[in-house]
Amino acid sequence: MGRLHTEEYTAPATQALTNEECVICMEQFRIAESFTRLPCDPRHVFHTDCISTWLSRSDRCPMCKAEITKSSLVDMIAIRS
Ligand SMILES: [Zn+2]
Ligand SMILES: [Zn+2]
Repeated sequence: MGRLHTEEYTAPATQALTNEECVICMEQFRIAESFTRLPCDPRHVFHTDCISTWLSRSDRCPMCKAEITKSSLVDMIAIRS
């Protein structure tokens, strides 16, 4: 698996995101947690830990079943502005 590209997002940029929950663990996203965004849809975002566990068993998005290339994942960290 290649290195993941990590982007930092300030709170306003992740506002929509932090109102959502990770469908894998059903927990809401919080500032300062790390997330991974899948290439299939910008709103298909999961906790980095959750999606790595998921992708060790499956190579498809848990939401839309799109096939995921692990090198195309984008890591994000939500930070306070
Ligand atoms: Zn999760
Ligand atoms: Zn998806």
